[in-house]
Amino acid sequence: MNLLSQSTMLLLTLLSRPRLTTPFHLPRYAPIIHHSQTRHHQSSSSDDTSSSTSAPSRFQNTNNNADQIYSALSSSGTLKVTTCTIRNLLNEMMLQHNLTPIPADALGRSTMCCLLASSGMQEEQMFQLSVKGDGALRGCTVIVNGKAEAKGFVGMPELNSESFTLQDAVGKGVLQVVKNHPDWPRPYNGVSEIKHSDIDRDFGIYLAVSEQRSCALAAATAFKGILCTAAGGYLVERLPDCPESDMEHVADNLAKLVKLDGGNALPTNLLLEGKTPYDIAELILDGLGMQPLNSVEPKALCHCSDDKLIRSLRLLPREDVDEILREEGKIEARCQFCGRVYRMSPEEVEKRMAEAKGDPSKDEDFGK
Ligand SMILES: [Zn+2]
Repeated sequence: MNLLSQSTMLLLTLLSRPRLTTPFHLPRYAPIIHHSQTRHHQSSSSDDTSSSTSAPSRFQNTNNNADQIYSALSSSGTLKVTTCTIRNLLNEMMLQHNLTPIPADALGRSTMCCLLASSGMQEEQMFQLSVKGDGALRGCTVIVNGKAEAKGFVGMPELNSESFTLQDAVGKGVLQVVKNHPDWPRPYNGVSEIKHSDIDRDFGIYLAVSEQRSCALAAATAFKGILCTAAGGYLVERLPDCPESDMEHVADNLAKLVKLDGGNALPTNLLLEGKTPYDIAELILDGLGMQPLNSVEPKALCHCSDDKLIRSLRLLPREDVDEILREEGKIEARCQFCGRVYRMSPEEVEKRMAEAKGDPSKDEDFGK
């Protein structure tokens, strides 16, 4: 069984028989250790910069009312900056899963890491991040595709947020990344150790160590009660032939950005003040010129369906399916990613399974 079929299995958890759910696991992977370094949250005593609000209309996003992923290059083309705001998306995920703020913070940060790192990838491609820590959160998984459609879940959605910090909740373990495309012969797998347990810094280390992408990355959220008031982040990537002077310049700009935000959940204060992804990218590239690349609106979207439930059932031993039908009188399953519940009568299961064609272990529409 390949990875894709495992992700199909993950998609639908049988409510009546949780023991039948195949645990999601990825093959062991030995990372190539590289000497790239991440730059993160650097501090300096430089003065503030002010931001411009003269974004072209295509990139404007007054008060961050819409979710947005914005990307740009420096004028030399050797630095790429991607910035995002996903407040609406995260509020929707909180509703889907009844999340308290700490699990929502973890899911929000993971979602932003995926969206930022996969910005610009082909629409059919998928990018999956699994945070596999030993903390009370019991892990977190997010999948995004090239259309910036995101779905995800955490192990413990209703964790008492007063008893844990994000770091406690995540714990120690590994980050695992799977990337795939329908045209690829096999998925790409990467893994790196969880060192800081705050997801964004660990994901920055993953990009540097496992993918040799020299970068600075931050992603954070802010809440008022159970409402997400800000969720945003940035990824700055060094492209080939980037002169050292540009790297120093952007590091200075990031230090200014940290100071301007003034909080420990960068860049949420800037977002709450109304700075948009365009404004934040402009601050990061201040003095280096900015060539806008793209702006897309990410969505919380899951493409689960009763067809996928049938596919999952076909992967189980037939006698197990029959046993559930005998004991429960129906099949009831809940999508782990969006919480949608599917119910099917024995007659419907029988009919659909008889009609089903193809190899159920091949998840042709995994990226949707
Ligand atoms: Zn779903």
